[in-house]
Amino acid sequence: MIWYPYVQMKTMTPPCKIVDANGVYLYTENQKLIDSISSWWSVIHGYKHPELNRALVEQAEKFSHVMLGGLTHEPVKKLADKLESFLPGDLNYCFFSDSGSVAVEVALKMALQYYMNRGEEQRTMILALEHAYHGDTFKTMEAGDDEDYHFVLKAYGPSRYVVHIPTEIPALEQAFEKYHSCLNCFIVEPLLQGAGGMRMYDISFLKRARELCDKYGVLLIFDEVATGFGRTGNRFVADLVLPDILVLGKALTGGYIGHAVTVANQKVYDGFYDDVPEHALMHGPTFMGNPLACSVALKSIELFETQDYMSAIHRIEAITRREMEGFTDERIKEIRIMGGCVCVEVRDAAVLKGYQQFAYERGVFSRPFLKYLYAMVPYIIKEDELVKVLQTMKEWFIMKK
Ligand SMILES: *Cc1c(COP(=O)(O)O)cnc(C)c1O
Repeated sequence: MIWYPYVQMKTMTPPCKIVDANGVYLYTENQKLIDSISSWWSVIHGYKHPELNRALVEQAEKFSHVMLGGLTHEPVKKLADKLESFLPGDLNYCFFSDSGSVAVEVALKMALQYYMNRGEEQRTMILALEHAYHGDTFKTMEAGDDEDYHFVLKAYGPSRYVVHIPTEIPALEQAFEKYHSCLNCFIVEPLLQGAGGMRMYDISFLKRARELCDKYGVLLIFDEVATGFGRTGNRFVADLVLPDILVLGKALTGGYIGHAVTVANQKVYDGFYDDVPEHALMHGPTFMGNPLACSVALKSIELFETQDYMSAIHRIEAITRREMEGFTDERIKEIRIMGGCVCVEVRDAAVLKGYQQFAYERGVFSRPFLKYLYAMVPYIIKEDELVKVLQTMKEWFIMKK
């Protein structure tokens, strides 16, 4: 029996069974669907990409997995080298893991231990954002602020170790003033908060955060598990404001296999690099640096560069703005667009009930959550396909008057 995510098993509608997938399309036994959310925002090149497939098969014919404890291999070396040159600034030290949640855990552990290694053991606190989502493991739930996902944490009472603030500069300044001596890091989903409701905010907030982190010696962590690889219309938000630790996941492997990476800058790495054995980072996921994942990730990044995805993403944004221009409805609170993400926030979650089936009948796979109807399409989508996704969203409001 399969236990499915985020649903009440007793009352859930059965999931659609997928029998094939190609490009932007998912195939059920009798329907062809545009995947408007790229399998949880990860499948940026679409499905069954010949070059990604080839990268996997070629590596599988050599070896599919070896551990990274005491062993190493070419795919992981090549990917680390590639990330070193592909990522901005001195974000050069790659710690691999098997999922975004674990990679965030690693980032939070790095930040805590960075200060422990320096004898600053009072720095146990994390500054985070309201409506943040950083994963479903325990410390990431605590850093997150989404009761809709993580209400189980209420059993522990309020956290002593995490402070949540809104994306407003005065609140940011006050939090640093009050807590700076106890903070080890400030963690954010930069510019676009995904699972917390596709909330978008201004770069000036992150610029100020960088200044305050420098002033008070607090590490700045960007969780770009969702925003990385172009989703915001920037390659990485880290290209605009440089964090000390960057976390990538989801699209890292083009959505082919679960893999993630926590990338530290020189300063963080140096905080561990010395003659004291206890100053080592004590972490090691079984499947970290998996050769299949690394091979496909490397190919994914190559495609990202050679196929000029940034232009494709800017085109997606322009088409989205054109199609949504002037669209209003009294049930809609706000329409937000950034790069390859569009979100229609409704006033009442009940308004979206039945949308998934409505879209299915029109050949679109969508999965609205709470008050958010959104699309995060694969970057290879054609104009008519994207228009269809957006038209379907608009039609729902036009037809259900
Ligand atoms: C999805 C997501 C995660 C968790 O990644 P998993 O691979 O699902 O563990 C962490 N942070 C952000 C911002 C995400 O969107």
